[in-house]
Amino acid sequence: MTSFIPCTTITPTSNSSSYNAATQERPLNSNTRSSSRPKRNIGSHTKYWKNGKTLKIAMYDASAEAIAAVKEAASEWLPYVNLKFEFINGEIGDIRIFLNPPDGVQSSAIGTDALIDDIGGTDELRRGPSMFLKWVPGDSRFKYVVMHEFGHALGAEHAHQHPDSAIPWNAENTYKYCIQHYGWSKSVVDKNILPLPRNDQHTYIPYDGDSVMHYEIIPEWTTDNWAQSETWAISDGDIAIMRMAYPKD
Ligand SMILES: [Zn+2]
Repeated sequence: MTSFIPCTTITPTSNSSSYNAATQERPLNSNTRSSSRPKRNIGSHTKYWKNGKTLKIAMYDASAEAIAAVKEAASEWLPYVNLKFEFINGEIGDIRIFLNPPDGVQSSAIGTDALIDDIGGTDELRRGPSMFLKWVPGDSRFKYVVMHEFGHALGAEHAHQHPDSAIPWNAENTYKYCIQHYGWSKSVVDKNILPLPRNDQHTYIPYDGDSVMHYEIIPEWTTDNWAQSETWAISDGDIAIMRMAYPKD
């Protein structure tokens, strides 16, 4: 059994504001494969930042030690993306990190969803945090969590939700386990654990069980006691996705 609550992605309540934020930032996020196809597939868009962008990353009330730990872990992505990170003080940034949320849940918005929120709309002065991290000095898992949440912040989804994963899910038991241990509703489980429906507008790279975007899978969620632990490093598959999303010329 896991001793922590797994990551949840922050889902926008409006898919159309997610689509608008994504396509304003980077028109190719619309993902329409044919120009004659009407834009009816809202929900199939990607959420990557403009290639070459310097992302401003704001951390609220963080100690110098916590900021250094986040910087070090997040920077593991930098060799594979055509982006720069600029860590800034205050609460205004493309990515806004709040440390130690009261509920202890670590989470992030996916890519350009950080440009919207339920309170502030597109008003950058009023946007809430787009990432929550639980900072405990000396926690050996913290670096993995930061790399995972920054993977979301750069636009990556959960690897274990790939429609082609060979994970023998037991959906009923997963729902039961998650309501008992985390208080998660079925819809939170569907959004964060179980396979996402295949979308023919997406370009899929092969399923990658070694991805830093993959949860630990515990036997309570599968048939035949199938299980897999976390990989605390960026995988070849993660690198391939980020190179495709943010090519360096
Ligand atoms: Zn996650």
